[in-house]
Amino acid sequence: LVSRKKQAENTVVDLKGEQVGAGGISYVFGPCAVEGYEQVAAVAASVKEKGLKLLRGGAFKPRTSPYDFQGLGIEGLEILKKVADEYDLAVISEIVNPADLEKAVDYIDVVQIGARNMQNFELLKAAGDAGKPVLLKRGLSATIQEFINAAEYIMSRGNRNIMLCERGIRTYEKATRNTLDISAVPILKQETHLPVFVDVTHSTGRRDLLLPTAKAAIAVGADGVMAEVHPDPAVALSDSAQQMDIPTFDQFFKEIKDVENRLKK
Ligand code: PEP
Ligand code: MN
Repeated sequence: LVSRKKQAENTVVDLKGEQVGAGGISYVFGPCAVEGYEQVAAVAASVKEKGLKLLRGGAFKPRTSPYDFQGLGIEGLEILKKVADEYDLAVISEIVNPADLEKAVDYIDVVQIGARNMQNFELLKAAGDAGKPVLLKRGLSATIQEFINAAEYIMSRGNRNIMLCERGIRTYEKATRNTLDISAVPILKQETHLPVFVDVTHSTGRRDLLLPTAKAAIAVGADGVMAEVHPDPAVALSDSAQQMDIPTFDQFFKEIKDVENRLKK
């Protein structure tokens, strides 16, 4: 169902008026994890000021260590909903447990399925059944075909609003947190009709690489870019090393819009 052979036209996902996949670039910014109202609202204000519509923030955090901050859970979703209503934004948040989906869809606009859960087939089916738009991230060691099959799981349940997100894969390279597989973008665009995002934060794990990789994403035809923004990354409870502070975010956005505008001509 997700194959280009089954549907030639691009799938466009409408998120509170933002037409993802319709030809422009959609930007998803926000903190790694929801830590509190003030923290999310500060980023939301900056997102809004830029005329953007999409805000991210993790409430259920799939952390590599069980001793790291696990997220605020439903309380985090409540904060996201409050901020989304106040700033008229659409919010994207990861859900890790099928049992949480039913409740979560009342708070969020897009269900994110994280890299670690890309082949959690029960979660994929539940996300298909929940009917909300889904942002599906590529697994840490998933092939492109496995990634496409994961999207198929969701669509096979009747949910056609799926966005794919390349977020880097595990290789022997240690200079970056993961290795951004930039060629996955045009391949996914050829093989499927779904919008494709590139998450420059989790792929690189390096603040100094966010802008160059975002430029590359746009140049190869991505429909969107995701990056993490925190009002004070130094004290962030997760991904402290790669989130942008607000002034850095302002500069990043200015430069990426320049690239976007130049490439459009
Ligand atoms: C995230 O986007 O918050 C996240 C945990 O990313 P990933 O699943 O790609 O590691
Ligand atoms: Mn993160």
